[in-house]
Amino acid sequence: MSFTELGLKPELLRAVAEKGYDTPTPIQSQAIPAVLAGRDVLAGAQTGTGKTAGFVLPLLQLLGDGRGRIPRVLVLTPTRELAAQVAESARTYGKYVDPRTVVVFGGVGIHPQIGALRSGCDLLVATPGRLLDLVEQRALDLSGVEHFVLDEADRMLDMGFIPAIKRILKLMPAKRQNLMFSATYSEDIRGLATRLLRQPETIQVTPRNATAERVEQTAYKVIKEHKRHLLAHLIREGDWQQVLVFTRTKHGANRLAQQLYAAGINTAAIHGNKSQGARVRALAEFKAGKVTALIATEVASRGLDIKELPWVVNYDLPNVPEDYVHRIGRTARAGASGGAISLVAPDEAPLLRDIERLLKRSLVISATPQFEIPVGQAAAGDGQQRRQPAPRPAGRPGGGNQRHRSSRNQRGSWRSAGRGG
Ligand code: AMP
Repeated sequence: MSFTELGLKPELLRAVAEKGYDTPTPIQSQAIPAVLAGRDVLAGAQTGTGKTAGFVLPLLQLLGDGRGRIPRVLVLTPTRELAAQVAESARTYGKYVDPRTVVVFGGVGIHPQIGALRSGCDLLVATPGRLLDLVEQRALDLSGVEHFVLDEADRMLDMGFIPAIKRILKLMPAKRQNLMFSATYSEDIRGLATRLLRQPETIQVTPRNATAERVEQTAYKVIKEHKRHLLAHLIREGDWQQVLVFTRTKHGANRLAQQLYAAGINTAAIHGNKSQGARVRALAEFKAGKVTALIATEVASRGLDIKELPWVVNYDLPNVPEDYVHRIGRTARAGASGGAISLVAPDEAPLLRDIERLLKRSLVISATPQFEIPVGQAAAGDGQQRRQPAPRPAGRPGGGNQRHRSSRNQRGSWRSAGRGG
């Protein structure tokens, strides 16, 4: 199958060819004809599958020639990063057609966005909060929307955007084409799809809730206090050049970034408390290879398009098992291979079980590599470490014997704490 066979017009094919794509991805070959035919679409696809072009290309075609004043296409995304990426794609693919793309999201000044909307907009990409602000300020009129895209619907739900989305739906004409994309399916997502979509074409490009086949997944058991040392060890010993590390909290992301930096690893953190400028800068430096470890919270990481990311580390296991699928979807993308490593502390055993239940298989727990803990930073009762040759804390037995005994302690404490959790 080629792009030409999908029924796209020459101006769009030209932009696609310039991007260097010769074959549509599975989501593209299914979604593009369906969208062009005016069908509603429910697509199970995560970032990395080419889903953006799957809706942007046909929608640009449906917009036809000419420029309008108010948007006819609205794409809602959960995060600023994803909004920026979708808009960038729309501009790239729309290089040789007339319709104008505008992107609006929070965290930056509203006035330039008002100005951009005033100059005319055909395709609007927006995050829900800022969109509603603009409507309230009477800077945005959604009464002309003919095509609506809800991107990463599962994330919208997790982030509590459903009330905002309900309000937004009321601002658009009832008669319109609706496309919904979600990486995972829960009952809530199915409910939302039933309300939003009319006889949708259903497209599933990876098996439901299945993690990418090529991603090698491993878990290591390690107590919380030692996670950072193990991570530093993995980065150094594996000579990792690029790793995306997930923490549960913003505070945790900041702290880990500082700790890894202190351990001599180039690091940046990306989360909701960072300004938009700082987030964009961190991502750019990471993409350019200037930053080895990008520490991210779930929300900030959604939709990040980082090509051929070799390593993803779950520093904290996600509370929502579906997030695991999302996180590890960042690696082994576009044909590259990669690995996902989860660091599982004793109290995270129940979270691991939830993930395994969702995946319908168990994760391989590998023997935790021996790693060093800088002197003076060992936690009470710890094990695992191959002590640096230099001074040992008093009272510790030495050599291989110590290592053996320590790793038994480690396993023992994991088991006992795991039972309690
Ligand atoms: P997405 O899932 O939309 O975020 O896209 C993931 C990545 O795949 C982006 O970097 C796209 O530029 C790239 N991509 C999209 N479509 C194709 C294609 N047909 N061939 C090769 N790469 C593609």
